[in-house]
Amino acid sequence: MSAHNRIYSVLNNKCPRCGEGDFFITKSAYSLRFDKMHRHCPSCGESLVPEPGFYQGALYMSYAFYVVFMLLYFFVFVAFLRPYLDYFLVTIIPVLILLTPLFYRLARRSWLAIFIAPDTQQVHKNASAGN
Ligand SMILES: [Zn+2]
Repeated sequence: MSAHNRIYSVLNNKCPRCGEGDFFITKSAYSLRFDKMHRHCPSCGESLVPEPGFYQGALYMSYAFYVVFMLLYFFVFVAFLRPYLDYFLVTIIPVLILLTPLFYRLARRSWLAIFIAPDTQQVHKNASAGN
């Protein structure tokens, strides 16, 4: 079993507590049920919806993802594609729309990961049990 941390569980669609159970039901952000998530971790039972309206805060996370992405996208054009700078304006909106399911999921996972610490005790236990 691999040691997990917040970054690992956010990027791999895992429960922030145990790093084992899935967070969203589908593996891919690009399926029709991309927004369906487990209410409790299938592996450790951690509540993935701590309170009603909890994920309103995830809006701030996705906002941050959009801003960071747009800045990076812009700097790539300025640095490497300067003659095609017009295409930045033409492509930015469709690209952001395509990234919406991905950022939606990333935002929810990272928002929950702020409040739930990885269970390092469990990692330690499993690691020694594997020896
Ligand atoms: Zn879990």
